[in-house]
Amino acid sequence: LIPFNNKYSICLSSQVGCAMKCSFCFTGTQGLKRNLSTSEIVGQFLLAWKWLAENRGEEKRILNIVFMGQGEPLHNFDAVKSACDIFLSKNGTSVGNQKITISTSGYLPGLKRWKDEIPGVNLALSLHSPFAEKRNELIPINKKFKLEEVLSYIDDIPLSKKQFITYEYLLIKDFNDSEVDARKTGELLKGKEAYINLIPFNPFPGTEYQRPTDLVVNNFKDILSEYKIPTLIRMTKGDDVLAACGQLNSKD
Ligand code: SF4
Repeated sequence: LIPFNNKYSICLSSQVGCAMKCSFCFTGTQGLKRNLSTSEIVGQFLLAWKWLAENRGEEKRILNIVFMGQGEPLHNFDAVKSACDIFLSKNGTSVGNQKITISTSGYLPGLKRWKDEIPGVNLALSLHSPFAEKRNELIPINKKFKLEEVLSYIDDIPLSKKQFITYEYLLIKDFNDSEVDARKTGELLKGKEAYINLIPFNPFPGTEYQRPTDLVVNNFKDILSEYKIPTLIRMTKGDDVLAACGQLNSKD
């Protein structure tokens, strides 16, 4: 559960571990242990809901559901889709479709099914770099599923009014945080129904990547605003307990 303005978002896992092996992600270092079932995914939500009711009283509510925990959600497509159906159903938890976001590293087999099978929820793409060599290092499946093809399938997803695609950009010191990186990202996304989340890197044991300074992060945001792309700097939460973005790992 992530507290925000007196309410909470819930960050769900779709797998135990992950097969995508993104170099900036602690989950990726453990490999894929197994897929979660639909009931295990929905169960995370129900457990959090129950905990809130018992510990925070009636006025505290879950605001959003984000699939940004362990796992690549589109690599466990059927279970994630069924979980979304239950979240959306009036006979289920009756959450609005605009309150659910599925985040993907660009897993193309799942993106190809999205348009016809995923029921109007939001999509977030882990972009992290507009340059192929850098994205290859950060997200190895980029070598197989090229960014251009990934973006073409995303561009094809019908969006309702006020809906947009979120592009997540992890900022790593002296790697992808320069003005050149920002301008290339702006060129890539300008004119799209895009929203960018800038995420300063959260270090974990064994990584060589570092977090950039606040000044560099703010400069990056300012450059993107020149391209008229709404950009938010994501506040880090949970890094004190290794639970922030990219820090989740499992213990047996
Ligand atoms: S960032 Fe997401 S897709 Fe990449 S290894 Fe971590 S959990 Fe998997």
